[in-house]
Amino acid sequence: TTILAIETSCDETAAAVIQNGDTILSNVIASQMESHKRFGGVVPEIASRHHVEQITVTIEEAMAQAEVTFADLDAMAVTEGPGLVGALLVGVNAAKAIAFAHNLPLIPVHHIAGHVYANHLIEPLTFPLISLVVSGGHTELIYMKEHGHFALIGETRDDAVGEAYDKVARTIGLPYPGGPQIDKLAQTGEASIDFPRAWLEDNSYDFSFSGLKSAVINTLHNAKQKEVEIAPEVIAASFQEAVCDVLVTKTMRALKEYNVNKLVVAGGVAANSGLRQALKQAAADAEVSLTIPPLALCTDNAAMIGSAAHILFLQEKFADDRLNGVPGLSLTENV
Ligand code: ATP
Ligand code: FE
Ligand code: MG
Repeated sequence: TTILAIETSCDETAAAVIQNGDTILSNVIASQMESHKRFGGVVPEIASRHHVEQITVTIEEAMAQAEVTFADLDAMAVTEGPGLVGALLVGVNAAKAIAFAHNLPLIPVHHIAGHVYANHLIEPLTFPLISLVVSGGHTELIYMKEHGHFALIGETRDDAVGEAYDKVARTIGLPYPGGPQIDKLAQTGEASIDFPRAWLEDNSYDFSFSGLKSAVINTLHNAKQKEVEIAPEVIAASFQEAVCDVLVTKTMRALKEYNVNKLVVAGGVAANSGLRQALKQAAADAEVSLTIPPLALCTDNAAMIGSAAHILFLQEKFADDRLNGVPGLSLTENV
């Protein structure tokens, strides 16, 4: 089965050709990062305009690199949501046009299902599994009993972890997107500040990062008033340790309680070196099988959408020409 997949939910215009849900024939990403940098975040209007400019060449490039023609395709897949509505619409309309012109089934994919299925490109998913989803907009623990089935165990009550990274980075004065910058700094600093961990109720798998974010901002503010210097790498390392401590502890507790020995990690923050290392150690100690996608498949891409779409193709979960972008699409509605 050969699927062309499109992803335009945020600031990456992406297209990929995926075979049988696990083989990448091509994976093309046109990033708009540079255009949003001077605004310190993604500007929706600018994102939409870039997608319009980039979508055709990105698709052409994905087809050329995969050395396929439209006649070789079995289906057309696209991110339905969640994301920025104006950004989603560009991908959805391109997908509808191609599906209609070439008489292909149209497969709508949930963006977070895509992030989870990035792991399927590395190693076939086995069930039951638990997925830790850590991205710019989501922080969730998900239980999967089979393909295409997503049950929410816990989620953030305020900021997503990627969002907290980006805000802390901004406070330190690092350019957008701050996550990778904090990660780099953290590797050179000592985690000597004991920032608060929000464990919440004893049995809760929910997360909260706004208190931690505020603690970092207050620490920097107080230091400035007292005219003491705190090295940014110490802030970065201490923040990162607090984040990883909570993420890893809750994930390992969930695996134990749900009696699951397969863990997959998903979303942009899965690229974080501290988190990867801490999860590897904890998984080895608990004899849990762990998959984390390589960095390029952690952040937004279309290969992951093509992988998730393959399962939906087998289940014949197709859409018609009324398909629309859904900014607040829920993962459980999608399955
Ligand atoms: P969502 O997937 O929830 O819709 P999104 O698509 O914007 O949100 P992703 O592209 O999956 O999010 O991830 C981007 C986020 O990942 C940003 O917040 C970015 O700072 C963060 N990020 C990327 N690399 C790293 C890293 N090495 N360490 C920490 N955070 C990182
Ligand atoms: Fe994403
Ligand atoms: Mg992104």
